[in-house]
Amino acid sequence: MAKSDPSRGSETEAEADTRNPTEGKRRLLSALEGQTCPSCDDDGTLERGRYKGNRAVVCDACDTPRVQVWNPSF
Ligand SMILES: [Zn+2]
Repeated sequence: MAKSDPSRGSETEAEADTRNPTEGKRRLLSALEGQTCPSCDDDGTLERGRYKGNRAVVCDACDTPRVQVWNPSF
């Protein structure tokens, strides 16, 4: 069998994803910032902040974190 192990393929994908994690996470935070909070039903707005020491996008009304970024280099 010359076929490559499928598990190696996903491993390569994971490596590509971590190659530039900061850029990706920042885009994710920016994309969510300013959106309405799904938990508050239009009463809350998502803004950048911190949650448990991590960068996150949290709702200014209910403090529900929508995204957290774990990156020690931040
Ligand atoms: Zn909320």
